[in-house]
Amino acid sequence: MKSAKNSDKRSRFRPPARFAGRGTVGASYLIAAAGLILIVIVFFMEIVGREPARQEEAPVAAVPATQEESAQAELPEAYFQPGTEDTAGEDEEESPNLIRGEIAPGDTAGALLQQWLSPAATNAVVEAAKSVWPLSRIRAGRPYAVTLDQGDLTRFEYEADDNNRLVIVREIEGSAIRWKASLEKIEYDIRLVRVESSIESSLFESMLLLGESPALAVRLADIFAWEINFIRDLQPGDSFRLLVEKRYRDGEFKGYGAIPVAEFINRNKKFEAFRFKDSFGNNAFFTAAGESLKRAFLKAPLAFTRISSRFSSARLHPILDIVRAHPAVDYAAPTGTPVKAIGGGVVTFRGFGRGAGNYVVLKHAGGYESMYMHLSGFARSLKQGGRVRQGEVIGFVGSTGYATGPHLDFRMKKNGRFLNPEKVLSPRDEAVPKAKLTAFGVERDRMRALLNGDVSLDEYASAQGQDGTAQ
Ligand SMILES: [Zn+2]
Repeated sequence: MKSAKNSDKRSRFRPPARFAGRGTVGASYLIAAAGLILIVIVFFMEIVGREPARQEEAPVAAVPATQEESAQAELPEAYFQPGTEDTAGEDEEESPNLIRGEIAPGDTAGALLQQWLSPAATNAVVEAAKSVWPLSRIRAGRPYAVTLDQGDLTRFEYEADDNNRLVIVREIEGSAIRWKASLEKIEYDIRLVRVESSIESSLFESMLLLGESPALAVRLADIFAWEINFIRDLQPGDSFRLLVEKRYRDGEFKGYGAIPVAEFINRNKKFEAFRFKDSFGNNAFFTAAGESLKRAFLKAPLAFTRISSRFSSARLHPILDIVRAHPAVDYAAPTGTPVKAIGGGVVTFRGFGRGAGNYVVLKHAGGYESMYMHLSGFARSLKQGGRVRQGEVIGFVGSTGYATGPHLDFRMKKNGRFLNPEKVLSPRDEAVPKAKLTAFGVERDRMRALLNGDVSLDEYASAQGQDGTAQ
């Protein structure tokens, strides 16, 4: 039986009759092989044959190319390796005399510098930096650069953060070598761009659809956090427009800078925010009338999970088992949860009380006070008599004093009388100082003109000073 199947296969290859009888089987395989080789040769000829055709298309490059294209056409192939296009400048900079790198995990400045310096010289460099930016604070992943002159280290740079670079240079006076440390601003190319969109589902999604990062959505929500509840109030059809500085280094996007102006339309109501200096010289956001967009008080002094007990004139005390007033709101949260100052002010009390446990009292403008009780500990920076900013961490949730579990007992007073913190309508923070209102008006109108496109965004750069405010 088996032979029948084989026979089927063989029969398919039977050569035409004219070949029959001449050692037929061997001959037929030869013919088949020859045919196959022929096909391969023809196929090959076809491929090779085509090449000459493309050469012919060279005139494309001859088509008037933009300056950029013609520049590219002249550049050798090496420039088009993936990811190397824009490093040309760097390569020219990268040389045996300039070594760039990133701090490796576990690396110390001493170990790093001793690749080029003696222990004594390394010590001198570390000492020189101490009063400017201590090298003990270097972090893994941060960039550094070393300049050598005939193998000798003459300059060490370390990027302390996104805005500052520590620079240590060797100075030779006679036979003495000194090391001089300074902190330099890192230069960015700032480009002002307009970002605008309507909102269909969420602010985040709209930002992503624009190709912007969620960080910008967070910044925008922060600006209007007092006016709009971004969790509850947004609806389809709302929209936003803003101008934002984009920071570039060597052509690479490095993050967002200032937002000089922003606008949000929520339920057909327009909210505007203009960036200007407040009375402390800090940048803040103001309405067109110069009112602060920030409220004097945060809505709550911590990221709480739930309210375990509300403001009441008569409540059964869980430990003392007596009914008495509870002029507070109890926010339940895990031990160690950071507690923030609800507003800027002075620390009038930082200490311990039997019932209150560890507690803090802050005095704010306008006769307001706030109290934070049962803390597990205080923030290291918190000093009695010191000042705190709104949102500054002052302590941590605990259950010291008369407390059945970890929670913050939070209280507010105005002119000595307790208020229900949930009902306090936080006054606006300080408005634009009267003396600055005219300058503010000029800046506001300039920003509106830029946002509306009445003035080119290029005008912005030329009018800006180093710190981002108009000169
Ligand atoms: Zn309480």
